[in-house]
Amino acid sequence: MWTFTLSILKKFLLLEIFKGLILTLKYFFKKKVTINYPYEKGPISSRFRGEHALRRYPNGEERCIACKLCEAICPAQAIKIEAEARSDGSRRTTRYDIDMTKCIYCGFCAEACPVDAIVEGPNFEFATETREELFYDKEKLLSNGDRWEEQINAAQKLDAPYR
Ligand code: SF4
Ligand code: SF4
Repeated sequence: MWTFTLSILKKFLLLEIFKGLILTLKYFFKKKVTINYPYEKGPISSRFRGEHALRRYPNGEERCIACKLCEAICPAQAIKIEAEARSDGSRRTTRYDIDMTKCIYCGFCAEACPVDAIVEGPNFEFATETREELFYDKEKLLSNGDRWEEQINAAQKLDAPYR
């Protein structure tokens, strides 16, 4: 009987609503844990494995020496490379494709690369409307490298003591 009366009283006085409002007020003045994405972005690890990029040396020469280790190690068989020797005898790729729809972002390609040419950069905002846009070629990968080089370089320096 007493429990029943208490329940009626709670409903009549709207106690649960006031409890909720007090809780809202309490969190209104606390530090926010949510961010206003995409205008605000959270921090990402220096080991974050995002969109792929092919890097260049500071003089503009591409790093990749067409050894094909990345192609061999890729468990998803997402990488396709063709190569030939240049007139100066150096070996460079003539084709470097990554099918990003197959990629599982394991990072093996970057681990296998002896010259840090192929990397997974910090970019995670590369959603597309069509599958075809996710078939990356050498030009696209090199332009990613040019675009993200500063951040990639900074992340590699942070990670260097642990390698
Ligand atoms: S991250 Fe893994 S799956 Fe993706 S291309 Fe590199 S090796 Fe292949
Ligand atoms: S990206 Fe690196 S591992 Fe792949 S072919 Fe070029 S040099 Fe070799």
